[in-house]
Amino acid sequence: MIDLRSDTVTRPSREMLEAMLSARVGDDVFQDDPTAIALEDKAARLFGKEAALFCPSGTMTNQIAINVYTRPGDEVICHRDAHVYYYEGGAMMRNSGVSVCLLEGARGHVSPEEVFTHINNPEDIHRPITSLVEVENTMNKRGGTIYRYEDLASISEICQNHALKFHLDGARLFNALAETGEQPEKYAKLFDSVSICLSKGLGAPIGSLLIGDRTFIKKARRVRKALGGAMRQVGYLAAAGIYALDNNIDRLKQDNDRAHCLGKTLETLPFIESVIPVESNIVIFTLRKKDGARGFLKALKENDIHALPIDPQTIRFVTHLDFTDSMLIKVESMLKTLSF
Ligand SMILES: *Cc1c(COP(=O)(O)O)cnc(C)c1O
Repeated sequence: MIDLRSDTVTRPSREMLEAMLSARVGDDVFQDDPTAIALEDKAARLFGKEAALFCPSGTMTNQIAINVYTRPGDEVICHRDAHVYYYEGGAMMRNSGVSVCLLEGARGHVSPEEVFTHINNPEDIHRPITSLVEVENTMNKRGGTIYRYEDLASISEICQNHALKFHLDGARLFNALAETGEQPEKYAKLFDSVSICLSKGLGAPIGSLLIGDRTFIKKARRVRKALGGAMRQVGYLAAAGIYALDNNIDRLKQDNDRAHCLGKTLETLPFIESVIPVESNIVIFTLRKKDGARGFLKALKENDIHALPIDPQTIRFVTHLDFTDSMLIKVESMLKTLSF
């Protein structure tokens, strides 16, 4: 089976499983788990921040950050297609009672100008208080697009000038850094907090990390508990995370390269209308045929290739560490034989 549905489908390698088997563990709710602590310390150091918190999912790390930074009724500025808004089950409204200011920026990116013009005047009692700006890099729903560092630096400055918090949903941040060559600690300086997923391109079975300063992480630990995300002998999972950070960052460039190849091939096919220019490991393309997605995915499935629709005419492929060069060749030759 060739699975292009998501980079979350990866299975732990034998080496990762061995690291998990030999993990030293304790009760992490008592902050007694040495492996969880080692993972959190490692992540904090990697990003040049004071502390980190291991959580079951990226939804939880994002939602904890939103909860810590806001009060009910406050407003969060993010893109209309941001994962925190679009793909997290309404969690920020539900758990934190916030309102959102949804921006429309191109490629799924919010621009410094747009952020600036949408900050509410805190003296105007008619308007909710803007307290947080959130960005996503890479940007999932718009095809894994990568922010320009200068734009993020400008937004960061605007946030500082207006006493707003700035959170990065970096579920696939390392796919972006693999392209731009920027260092995590330089990047993290722009943000109050960073969320990264271990269970996507990095290949761990479970887990995300929330990274920030000590005071923030202390508050985050309380919110994680309240959301039911404090776990016990979690070192078995943290060991997979340590393995992932040690071994699976450098290889992400391969995933991006394979996605570029898929994008190039798709552009040549007569039944494809357009492909969003590939920037990392996500390929989003639109078929010429309206409502063509179902039939197209069925044809792929008959060849044991699996992908997901974004809408009735649009498909997403995501490359990952269990998608090899030989699979790439198979998918490309299969696509070329399709008459659709
Ligand atoms: C996957 C993802 C998350 C977190 O998803 P979980 O399934 O909750 O771990 C957050 N943001 C983005 C952009 C994602 O793609």
